Amino acid sequence: MSYSAHFACLAGCPNVAIPLPEPIYRCPSCGGLLDVKHDIEALRERSGEAWRVLFDERMRGGQWPLGSGVWGKHEWIAPELPLDHVVSMDEGRSSLLRAEAYGSSIGLRDLRLKLCGNSHTGSFKDLGMTVLVSMVKHAIHEGQRVAAIGCASTGDTSAALAAYGAAAQIPVVVLLPRGKISTAQLVQPIAAGARVLALDTDFDGCMKIMAELAQDGVLYLANSMNALRIEGQKTVVIEICQQLGWQVPDWLVLPSGNLGNGYAMYAGFRMMKELGLVDRLPRLALAQAENANPLYRAMVAGAKTVEAVTAKPTAASAIQIGNPVSAPRALRALEAMDGVVEQASEQQLADAAARADRTGLYVCPHTAVALAATEKLRAKDIIKEDEQVVVISTANGLKFTEFKVRYHEDQLAEVDAGFANKPLELAADYATVRKAIEKMATD
Ligand SMILES: *Cc1c(COP(=O)(O)O)cnc(C)c1O
Ligand SMILES: [Zn+2]
Repeated sequence: MSYSAHFACLAGCPNVAIPLPEPIYRCPSCGGLLDVKHDIEALRERSGEAWRVLFDERMRGGQWPLGSGVWGKHEWIAPELPLDHVVSMDEGRSSLLRAEAYGSSIGLRDLRLKLCGNSHTGSFKDLGMTVLVSMVKHAIHEGQRVAAIGCASTGDTSAALAAYGAAAQIPVVVLLPRGKISTAQLVQPIAAGARVLALDTDFDGCMKIMAELAQDGVLYLANSMNALRIEGQKTVVIEICQQLGWQVPDWLVLPSGNLGNGYAMYAGFRMMKELGLVDRLPRLALAQAENANPLYRAMVAGAKTVEAVTAKPTAASAIQIGNPVSAPRALRALEAMDGVVEQASEQQLADAAARADRTGLYVCPHTAVALAATEKLRAKDIIKEDEQVVVISTANGLKFTEFKVRYHEDQLAEVDAGFANKPLELAADYATVRKAIEKMATD
């Protein structure tokens, strides 16, 4: 059996079929976004049941690199990429945690968190980056000249790119606005040896220069305009169905910024349904920070396109995006999955995080946006009590110590920290300590 995939135009321009190793990021015909198109007829030669069995075997088997949550599905991702060019850090296979205490506190009987932050660099960005960096390694092997892979990013994208680039020994360049990013936010790419260039501009200015560098072939582009990242990210939903015994949840809720990941959810489900692994799609809820909510505004206005806004600072820094690159992709996903868009203020996201943490979850601020949105959709009875909800937890809470510390010190902007838990300072005296503990029981 031979499977194949190529870049096609998302908007459907005819005769666009570009090999995946080509460094091309926009449709040559209309200038719009690209999409990876698979030969579905060839994949149909194996039944839905046979694919399910194969994926389950690989997930259990742990054979390198097929034990990776992404590469166990390689025929659906990059079928022509030789497995010995794969650059894997054993991504995926993250836990699907049942959040019983938190779920019941918000009126849900079955709420699960897909912990994508339990991954090599601590966010779901690993899932797409393994595909992108593997494809670059393959292209170099085929004789293409790639001096370095680049991205404009202040957080999880640069952390993932730097790690996978370092693993493959391919140079990485990260562009960011000078003086606006703390060393703590940058420590992963710095440690991995990426060349970090701090420019006298804002994030959009960095992105513009990055796009030009990619256009001129100076750097291979790793930002999410690159459709290869979607191919890896879509495995999350396949894995969720696997973990549910190939059942489909009623809802998927995720925090959204550039809107690529929302489309990845759809891309994964579309393929599973076309190939007979599942018989329906869940509903999709995309959650935005109120301070960076262009998609929410478009939905409220009933608009068919997304107008850029100026994103204001939010604790959910990875989704502080005013002009989302993948808006046309997300609109397709929302339409196909009977989707909704919800938003969360800084107060709502901080409260959701604090209450979730008190049930042991320790969520990142982006996951908190999704939880706050889930609470609001439940309160409006759009999500019903007995529906099964899976929230995509996009990063590990341990990457966001500053957010947690500032909350519990009541220092977060726009937030009244009602659940702050301050340490009690006491004299080193048995009676005083005992009294404090006894008082706890009556508080
Ligand atoms: C990148 C990122 C997002 C947003 O994903 P998009 O595809 O840009 O919508 C959400 N949460 C975290 C932690 C991220 O790193
Ligand atoms: Zn086109």
